[in-house]
Amino acid sequence: MTQETEHVQCLIIGSGPAGYTAAIYAARADLKPVMYTGIVPGGQLTQTTDVDNFPGYPNGIMGPEMMEDFRKQAERFGTDIRFGYVTKVDFSTQPHQVVVDESKTITADTVIIATGASAKWLGLESEQKYNGFGVSACAVCDGFFFKGQDVAIVGAGDTAAEEATYLAKLCKTVHMLVRRDEFRASKAMQHRVLNTPNIIIHYNSETKEILGDGKNVTGVRIVNNVNSEEKTIPVTGFFVAIGHNPNTEIFKGWLDMDETGYLITKPDSTQTNIEGVFACGDAQDKLWRQAVTAAGTGCIAALESERYLAAKEHQPVKSVIA
Ligand code: NDP
Repeated sequence: MTQETEHVQCLIIGSGPAGYTAAIYAARADLKPVMYTGIVPGGQLTQTTDVDNFPGYPNGIMGPEMMEDFRKQAERFGTDIRFGYVTKVDFSTQPHQVVVDESKTITADTVIIATGASAKWLGLESEQKYNGFGVSACAVCDGFFFKGQDVAIVGAGDTAAEEATYLAKLCKTVHMLVRRDEFRASKAMQHRVLNTPNIIIHYNSETKEILGDGKNVTGVRIVNNVNSEEKTIPVTGFFVAIGHNPNTEIFKGWLDMDETGYLITKPDSTQTNIEGVFACGDAQDKLWRQAVTAAGTGCIAALESERYLAAKEHQPVKSVIA
């Protein structure tokens, strides 16, 4: 595929909770895993604030700090962690071939896919135009720039609720645009939003256009989908929090996936339709999508890789489950 080639036993693609957990288990089983982190080392949790529901942190922890802990633990057992982005795969041969940054080919006996998911966008032209100039899909990354200002956030799930309350601490007013007459977010998150005085909820509201002065965002035009009434809200920041897409584009044509791109694995397993290729975390899980469930499937992927290699080589399994 490319001129520079390297062979590895176990290749892990992605560095969220699934990838790092797979790395910890694979390294302890002496598979000498090599991990390519992708463009966001640590994954989605590096773009969040408090994580209160990951077991083992009785007082909660900040997302980026937790991912640092994951990384250190994976490194402690010898995982070779590299910054790089997988651009192409070829699963037609054994070992499997994976191209990194369009310049290096890795051949791997087993591949663990832990590529996660990415934020969805509304798809408006104005959203693209002002992306980075007032439009953002990450309140935690960019909220700081809107200190004391009025902002809007679109979405009604747990992410939107969490980000709205985060923004409310920094900004003067947060306008929350909810397209139905109710939230999708859990009751606890809804409660937090409804009890934050500087969050104004606009139900049945859809975004028509993000307004700007050619340089920066100046407002948002919304329409009420019940009475068709339009109104303009002056804001300097516009945050999109409407869910995620699995990062599985490069596996199209090789791996079975559902209509939305989530990788399909065998029941009770992380095994894909290609032997020796395992999928875990948010790239494979459209239902639960929690850090702890991603870590769980990462563990399974590593154990299944180890068993696969052991069966191939007729060697006894060296699992360290403790
Ligand atoms: P969700 O898919 O749960 O919610 C997406 C939200 O965006 C929905 O309210 C949806 O509206 C709305 N939406 C989608 N498309 C549009 C659009 N074009 N215009 C306007 N609104 C739109 O995604 P989340 O990212 O919020 O959550 C993903 C998963 O992660 C969930 O399982 C959630 O529970 C979990 N999570 C848990 C957290 C925690 O426990 N601390 C924190 C964050 C997420 P509608 O409701 O009408 O479909």
